[in-house]
Amino acid sequence: MAATADKSKPYIPLAGCAADGWSKEDEATATCFCGAVQLAFPTEGPGLVNTFVCNCTDCRKITASMFASNFTVADTHLKHLRGRDNLKTFSQAETIGSGNTMTNHFCSTCGTLMYRVGASFPGMSILRIGTVDDFNLHETKLKPRVEQFTKDRVSWLHGLDGVKQFERMPSTSRVKAPL
Ligand SMILES: [Zn+2]
Ligand SMILES: [Zn+2]
Repeated sequence: MAATADKSKPYIPLAGCAADGWSKEDEATATCFCGAVQLAFPTEGPGLVNTFVCNCTDCRKITASMFASNFTVADTHLKHLRGRDNLKTFSQAETIGSGNTMTNHFCSTCGTLMYRVGASFPGMSILRIGTVDDFNLHETKLKPRVEQFTKDRVSWLHGLDGVKQFERMPSTSRVKAPL
């Protein structure tokens, strides 16, 4: 067996309780850990707007890890395949860099954060690369193009190679710029 997964085709390992994730030419699924919530999203522009890693202090708490790996999708291209009524929300603005409210949408059964919506980013949802069922996409179309809040990055990680780095938040115009 090769040391790394074959990146030339979909690679959908069993991860969590749902086994019905899929990946097509220009669209794929993202599913929560228990399988109750499943989304379909575009894997190409203009529906796919951005892919990025964030090291900010909120992202540590949100992920219970050291950084978040995200991708931004235009809401016009985001489909809730099932479980939309199983999503709960939590909003706050206290520690958001922009000062504007961001709302987390997470599975009320298993707690997986599926996406965040921000008052600063109207018409867009920020999904989590780790929820995408086709792991091949983590390596290819969804590979982060930007790393932000490098000032908050944990010292034992050296960051991403070959991507644009920002000490804090890139300007909103850059965040919204299509891929
Ligand atoms: Zn769930
Ligand atoms: Zn962050």
